[in-house]
Amino acid sequence: MSDKKLQRAIDTLKESGVRITPQRHAVLDYLLNSMVHPTADEIYKALEGRFPNMSVATVYNNLRVLREIGLVRELTYGDSSSRFDCNTTDHYHIICEECDKIVDFHYPTLDEVESLAEQVTGFKVSHHRLELYGVCEECQKVAAATKQ
Ligand SMILES: [Zn+2]
Ligand SMILES: [Zn+2]
Repeated sequence: MSDKKLQRAIDTLKESGVRITPQRHAVLDYLLNSMVHPTADEIYKALEGRFPNMSVATVYNNLRVLREIGLVRELTYGDSSSRFDCNTTDHYHIICEECDKIVDFHYPTLDEVESLAEQVTGFKVSHHRLELYGVCEECQKVAAATKQ
């Protein structure tokens, strides 16, 4: 399923004049196949076996390049561990409070909230973020199993 996505992403890289290094290719491929919104560190750990000379800094660097051309979105949570998302279409996130997993959640974009906010506050709204928090199915199962 993601082969087409990967090809499209690579086309975007080419059009932007960004060099496609094997590492950059691997980071992109990993992100496209990962539904969990990994941190740079997680991407590094997943790929270090294939690229022994790669550092976390290299991963960050590649992510920054991918972000600048709009292929990757960075989700910041006020701490040092940004999470990376290669789904750049509009969507919302639901976050597990137990394991920190972030799952995509599709819901019609709340445009009316933005226009109401503009009317009420006089701001020119650029975007909004909506996050739901809870406990994922796996963590619920773990909790249920340990109770018995
Ligand atoms: Zn969980
Ligand atoms: Zn997402």
